[in-house]
Amino acid sequence: MRIDGYTRVCGVMGNPVEHTMSPVIHNTLAEKLGDNLVYVPLHVEKGRAAEAAKGAYALNFLGLNVTVPFKSEVLPALTKIDPLAERIGAVNTLVRDEEGFKGYNTDMPGLYRAMESDGVRIEGEEVLLLGAGGVARAVAVLLAEKGASRIHILNRTLEKARAIAGEVNGYAGRELVLAHGLEDWKNLLYPEGEGVRPEKKYLAIQCTNCGMFPRTDQVPIADPAFYEGIHTGYDLIFNPSRTRFMELTARAGGRSFGGLKMLLYQGVIAYELWTGKRVEEDLAREVYGRMKEAMGIE
Ligand code: NAP
Repeated sequence: MRIDGYTRVCGVMGNPVEHTMSPVIHNTLAEKLGDNLVYVPLHVEKGRAAEAAKGAYALNFLGLNVTVPFKSEVLPALTKIDPLAERIGAVNTLVRDEEGFKGYNTDMPGLYRAMESDGVRIEGEEVLLLGAGGVARAVAVLLAEKGASRIHILNRTLEKARAIAGEVNGYAGRELVLAHGLEDWKNLLYPEGEGVRPEKKYLAIQCTNCGMFPRTDQVPIADPAFYEGIHTGYDLIFNPSRTRFMELTARAGGRSFGGLKMLLYQGVIAYELWTGKRVEEDLAREVYGRMKEAMGIE
C-alpha cells in the first residue's frame, strides 16, 4: 500500500467500530482500482458524531461511513442530504463537496442490489418485516418504493411497528403497511387455524438483532410453523454468516440469505459515490471473497 502526500483518506465512524469489515471492502477496492486511498476505522465517543464529521471535513477526508449509533445523530453536521436518506432519516455515507459533507443512505440501495444479485424480487410481493428498529424503518421505505404489494411489520413492541406503518402509509398515500405484534404471525399465516397449511407464502426480511453474535442461538420467532409460511427468508445479520433464522427457513424448504452481501454493496455504492467510478460485478465478487476470508467463512 502506497501512502504519500496525495493519499486520500476515508473511514468509518462508529462506537464500537473495532470489528468493522468495511476496511476490507474499501482497501481492496482501492488496491484493485489503483486508487491512492486509505480507509480506517474511527472510534468516536457517543454524543460527538457531528463534531467528528466536521473535524474529518476540516482534515480533508474524501468521505466517511457512519455506523451505529450515529446514523441519525450526525445529520446536523451535513450541508446537504440526499432525498432517499432524508426520507429514511438516517445516513451511512458522507460525501465531500465544496461546502461540506452531503449525506446518503447506501444501506437500502445496497440491500436492493444484494437481493437482485440473489434473485429475490420485491415487486408484487407480500412481505413480512420482522423488527421495527432503524433498519426495519429503512427497509419499509425501500419495499414501498420498489412496489411490494403489502408490508406486514411484526415487532415485539407494537407501538414502534405502528409508528413506521403510519409514516410509510402517509407517504405512500394508502394502507400499504400493517403493524402487528410479533406473535400475530399465527393469525396472519394460518387464518383458518393451526394445522391447516398456509396456501400463500411470504418473503420474510429479518431486521431484529436476534441471532447476532454472540447470541447466535436467538431467533425472533422460534416456532417451525412460521417458516412453513415463507418462501424466502432474508436475514440482515451478517455475523454469523448462517443464522438460526436462515437454518429454520432452509429446514422448512425456503430459500435463505444472510446480510453479508448487503454489507458488501452498501460499501461498493459508497465507494462509487466517493470516487465517481463504477465497481463492476467481477470486482464486487472478488471483494466478497476477501470479506468471507476475513470472517473465516467458505
Ligand atoms: P435497532 O434499531 O436496535 O432495532 C432492533 C430491533 O430488534 C427492534 O425491532 C427490537 O424490538 C428487535 N429485538 C431486539 N431484541 C429482540 C428480542 N430478544 N426479541 C424480539 N425482538 C428483538 O437495530 P437496527 O439498527 O435496526 O439493526 C437491526 C439489525 O440489522 C442488526 O442485527 C444489524 O446487524 C442488521 N444490519 C445489517 C446491515 C448489513 O449491511 N447487513 C446493516 C445495518 C444493520 P423492540 O422494538 O421491541 O425493542
